[in-house]
Amino acid sequence: TNKQAVTVIGLGPMGRAMAAAYLKAGYAVTVWNRTTAKADELVAQGAVRAATPAEALAANELVVLSLTDYDACHAVLDGATAALAGRVLVNLTSDTPEKARAAAQWADGHGARYLTGGVQVPPPLIGQEGAATFYSGPREVFETHRAALEVLTAADYRGTDPGLAQVYYQALMAMFWSSMTGYLHAVALMRANGITAEEFRPHALKAADVSYFIGEMGARLDVDRHNTGADRLAMDAASADHVVHTLKDAGLDTEVPAALASFFHRGVAAGHGEGSFTGLISVLERPAG
Ligand code: NDP
Repeated sequence: TNKQAVTVIGLGPMGRAMAAAYLKAGYAVTVWNRTTAKADELVAQGAVRAATPAEALAANELVVLSLTDYDACHAVLDGATAALAGRVLVNLTSDTPEKARAAAQWADGHGARYLTGGVQVPPPLIGQEGAATFYSGPREVFETHRAALEVLTAADYRGTDPGLAQVYYQALMAMFWSSMTGYLHAVALMRANGITAEEFRPHALKAADVSYFIGEMGARLDVDRHNTGADRLAMDAASADHVVHTLKDAGLDTEVPAALASFFHRGVAAGHGEGSFTGLISVLERPAG
């Protein structure tokens, strides 16, 4: 038969969701995981358990990796490099762009083709509409395997540099972790005032939509225009202080908001106090120490 086939290495929550999506789509799926029991449910659903990483690589041309980080990828694959020739490795493990670039060279040196991916959704959204993954690496490799990758999520190809998928991914994570941490601070403040996260939800959802600011600031950032007359960084720094003091008065931890306030004040001290918040970009681009 002509059945499509894929190997999935790494069965954390993400790898398990991916292997399950392939099984559901009718693929022949081979799996390997260090802790073998994590494959049990997939094997019960029809996946084949490889005994070693080399066996998992040998089973199929297309190999999806989903491990904690690139150190884990090397821990798994460094002993199996003889089985890499002719494989297409799609590494959906998150890590730095530099590590992705080094791994692409490493794979190339062992005769494998290599794509990097940055998955933008949690495991329950794998195989669902609307979910998307950034990819980068050789375009023809991406195009050849696009349909197989789209079993998992929509595929957003960013370019040939194997680091690019992680550049996009980590940029979004920088936004994600700071906004989600801001949300946790907000909920802690609400709870200190007897208001539940559920009651707060509609207000949080409104505040989470920062599209006006991103739309307005993006155009100015590209031309480094920070004098709008609409907001002054000196005012923003005072506002950041109010957040710190409010959380402190409520008996809450202030490490993260205090770091933000201190960052704003560095911008003021560097002479950007009369310009807009976006002037802080020049502090970011000339890091201290
Ligand atoms: P986990 O860290 O929960 O799972 C990681 C897998 O890596 C497990 O199979 C684990 O094996 C394996 N592993 C870790 N270290 C080693 C090692 N030294 N040797 C062999 N195997 C190792 O991650 P997730 O499944 O949650 O995520 C996988 C990737 O997807 C990550 O890079 C993550 O950033 C990314 N991602 C995850 C999202 C999520 O919401 N979960 C969302 C978007 C991206 P074992 O079972 O034996 O411990």
